[in-house]
Amino acid sequence: MEKWDCGIVGGGAAGLSAALQLVRARKNVIIFDNDTNRNRVTQESHGFLTRDGITPAQFREEARRDLAKYPNVTFISAEVNRIKQKDAASFEIIAHNSPYLVEKVLLATGIRELFPSVPSIAAYYGKSIFSCPYCDGYERRDEPMILFAETEPGIRHMGRLLLNWSGNLVIATNGNEIDHDTVSLFERHGVRIEQSKVAELIGENGMLQEVVFENDNRIKRTSGFVVPQFIRKDSLAADLGCAFDEEGQLITEASGQTSVPHIYAAGEYANQAPSSLLLAAADGARVAVNMNIHFVESRFS
Ligand SMILES: Cc1cc2nc3c(=O)[nH]c(=O)nc-3n(C[C@H](O)[C@H](O)[C@H](O)COP(=O)(O)OP(=O)(O)OC[C@H]3O[C@@H](n4cnc5c(N)ncnc54)[C@H](O)[C@@H]3O)c2cc1C
Repeated sequence: MEKWDCGIVGGGAAGLSAALQLVRARKNVIIFDNDTNRNRVTQESHGFLTRDGITPAQFREEARRDLAKYPNVTFISAEVNRIKQKDAASFEIIAHNSPYLVEKVLLATGIRELFPSVPSIAAYYGKSIFSCPYCDGYERRDEPMILFAETEPGIRHMGRLLLNWSGNLVIATNGNEIDHDTVSLFERHGVRIEQSKVAELIGENGMLQEVVFENDNRIKRTSGFVVPQFIRKDSLAADLGCAFDEEGQLITEASGQTSVPHIYAAGEYANQAPSSLLLAAADGARVAVNMNIHFVESRFS
């Protein structure tokens, strides 16, 4: 059975960037991806120097084209839902019901959003409602904006941040009662906090026009931001026996290796927190270099 040096689960910014470092370090790499990258709902990606405004699809296509120049990379278009440890330094990655044998594994399957219970918010996400103002705030600057945030820390952090991009801001707590001090703080800056539950979002093709509340208030808004919760897409790390801290954070060494030798994590999967294409790609490259150092150390004896 063929054995690859590295199996990369997740071909997003982190996984593809890791792959580039590893193939250039002459490792045989196999990458698995099922096209569920978090940013697939959006039209343009911003903030990556030399790539500003690129579509998510084009970013992935160009990254794959860079990699396809190297003979030592294999792409498998499939979902991985199981990884089995065979012995101390070999793992079987199961995809399409077939096992692929690898020496080291990089987990880079990303995270997903859990939205507040605002009706049909997912249909607007990536089109006129976003979660990262650094990614999408500039294009929405000075628009009538709404922030959907249900907790005090979320409101205080994102509410203040969004004022960078638009002074025409309303905050919707979606039925959650907020401390009077927070309400007054924002009122002093001209920001109203609407504490009634959101009844309906009105718009067309994902483009927001109006927000209707259960108390019958209605406000015209053309863009929004939301503070979701973020969770890992899968339990691959847990199933392999990787250790987590009491807050659910995956424990990794500075190298990116988890508590299970030969299993590494990179990108948003590693921290279970949102970042950006540039930061995820940088993290993938960093962990890949450390994986290669571990190969060198183990093979130079
Ligand atoms: C609406 C929106 C807009 C954004 N805009 C920007 C922007 O303008 N600029 C910017 O820098 N960032 C932006 N981001 C953030 C950016 O998309 C992420 O920071 C980045 O994609 C994280 O990279 P990653 O490799 O960690 O995860 P991902 O890019 O999510 O990659 C994970 C990969 O794993 C694959 N995968 C998942 N599960 C499996 C499995 N079981 N088997 C096989 N493959 C699997 C997925 O297909 C995916 O390709 C945006 C995100 C969203 C949601």
